[in-house]
Order: sequence, then structure tokens, then C-alpha cells
Amino acid sequence: MVTAVTRQRLKTLLADRARELLALLLALMLSAGCLLLLFLKFPAAPSAKTVLCLWESGAREEPYAEVLRSIAGVGEEGVLLERDGERGAVQTGAEFARVRDILARGELLDLLLLDASALAPIERAALYLQYKRTVYFSGKAYAFDGNHVVASDMVAADCVILLDGALPAHYLKDIGATAFDLRAAAEFSASDLTGSAVESIVAQAPYEREGDALFLSAFGERTLVATLPHAARVYVPDCTYVRGGALACAREMTALDVPFVGSAKTRVSGFEGSLAWMLCTEEETAVPTALTSLRVRGGIVDAFAFHNTHLEEVDLCGVDPADISRQAFLGMDSLRLVHTPLAEIELKNLGDYAVSRAPCGCTVYERI
Ligand SMILES: [Zn+2]
Repeated sequence: MVTAVTRQRLKTLLADRARELLALLLALMLSAGCLLLLFLKFPAAPSAKTVLCLWESGAREEPYAEVLRSIAGVGEEGVLLERDGERGAVQTGAEFARVRDILARGELLDLLLLDASALAPIERAALYLQYKRTVYFSGKAYAFDGNHVVASDMVAADCVILLDGALPAHYLKDIGATAFDLRAAAEFSASDLTGSAVESIVAQAPYEREGDALFLSAFGERTLVATLPHAARVYVPDCTYVRGGALACAREMTALDVPFVGSAKTRVSGFEGSLAWMLCTEEETAVPTALTSLRVRGGIVDAFAFHNTHLEEVDLCGVDPADISRQAFLGMDSLRLVHTPLAEIELKNLGDYAVSRAPCGCTVYERI
């Protein structure tokens, strides 16, 4: 009996001890866990650091940093890649397309409400690289910071998007823009381009771009408002009107081909018939000295139309002889060659010119 009772006590005692030990062990393990949490950093999941790239040679998972270095732009396909001459893309979702389209074509409100934070890091990086040197202008400058479009004090940019209103004087020149995006509500004049490095223009209706020329189109009538500033040979496609000084920004122009001389194709009220009217503004009062060759395809050629220019060659082939003034070529000191459908013209010292007939039927005067 004694033995049985003692055994029972011993059993209870052992069970108590075991419980105490277990509790101690649990406490120790918990403390060690806390210490680990305090002193150890958890490594990031490796999958977040790689990006699936679709190369011409096949699909590959690549480290984020490597893909970042290969970004060539953004397009309809998503993020565009280029490495060692090989092209590829990172597939993107609908949210990327939405953000990309707002950055490319959005109006001020869309831009200000834009939030790119839900995009994948590689998508956001590609859009930031694409737009970090773009200024959106609407009364003041805005730029994309990788997440939002915010007010900006950028002093250098590749592209200026004029959303509405006018630019401050010499803005395109001062900021060094090479690309200019003109939106429907923009108020634009040729002097905005003067002295700038702009070599490409994207225009939204009612603005219209054709070749190097920029027009304002409405009700079937086209008004030339400007031309690219650095073209040496400027061709102006057919139009109805030319705004005063529309060609003033093309200071390096050497040859010009126009549908007519002056402000309009026909003699409308307030018609201005001089070439200088197209080339000069209040700011640019002198005709470019490099401009020596002119071709006129139609319209009216008034007396003294080329007065105060440095033209050496004038070709009026195609103009109705009835619309050419005999005094059109007066006031020209540097004239060397004239090709005219009107044979009887007045020239300074007519005796200095040899006269011949061109195959088209026009008369050619060439200084001897
Ligand atoms: Zn001819």
C-alpha cells in the first residue's frame, strides 16, 4: 500500500516538474525569437527583383537592375527594351496603358489627377525615363515626378507640351527644347520658335503640321502660322493665308518655296503683298540675309513685292501673268536671275541682263 501511495505522489511530482520545465523552455524559445526579430533582417523575396523580358531570342527572367539599364522607351507593346542591338519588351497591363496615354495626350486635369503608384516598379521607371525631360505648360510649368504630375521649376527640358494659353517669351529657346507639342487650346505664334532648337513639332487640330510648316485650319481655310526654325530650304504647302511674320523664326533659311507672296492667296481686304511681311515681325525686323532663292507658285505678285530682301534668284513659274506687276522686281539690289511668265518687266539697269526663253514659255533674265 505504502509503495502504491508513494508511487502515486512521485508521479504527480514528476508531472509538475515536467510542466514547469516545459513552461521554462517555451519562455526561452519566445525570448530567442524576439531577439532574432530585433537583430536579424529578413531577406526580400527574390521574385520581386526579377522581371520577365520578352526578347527577340526568347523570354527570360532577368534582374531588375539589368532590365532598368536596357529600357529604350515606352510603346503600345509596353516597356521597350534594347540591349546589344537586340530588341525586347516587358509586358504591361491596362493601368500602364492608362497612365502612359495620360502622360502622352492628357489634358491638365487628367495630368494633375494622375497617380502612377499602383504600377510595377519597372513600368514606373520606364515612364519616368520617358517623361522626366518633358514640361507640361499651362500658365506655369508641370512635370512628372514618377508618381504624379506636379508644379516644376525645371530649367532644361527636351520637350515642351503647351496645353493651353501662351508661353512666356523665349521659353522654348531658354529651356533648350528640341520637341514641341501644340495642343488645341494653345495660343501660339512664330516668335515662340525664334532662336529655339526645336526640330520636331506635334500639332493637335485646329493646328496642323505638314512638312516643316505649321498651319491653323478652320472652315476649309488654312493659315500658315510658322515653320521649323532650322530648315535651310523651306517649302510652304498650299494654303489660304499667311500670318504676319510666320516665317520670321527661320533665320537660317537660304531657299524658300511659297504658294503665294504676302498675306493671302487672293486680293482680300487688307491684303499685304510683300515678302518682307511674311518674314518680319516687330522683333525680327530684318529679312534673313542668307535667303537668296525664292520660288512663287501662285497668287498675286505686287509692285515692290521683294523690296528690302537679299534675293538673287526669283522664279514665278506657274503664277498667272495677269497677276504679276511689271514693277514687282524694283527695289532689288542683289537680283541675278529671274524666271517670269510675264515677259515685260522692269528691272534696275535692264541692260545688265541677258534675256532668253525657257522651255516652259517663261522669260528668263540673267545678269551678265
Ligand atoms: Zn516657267
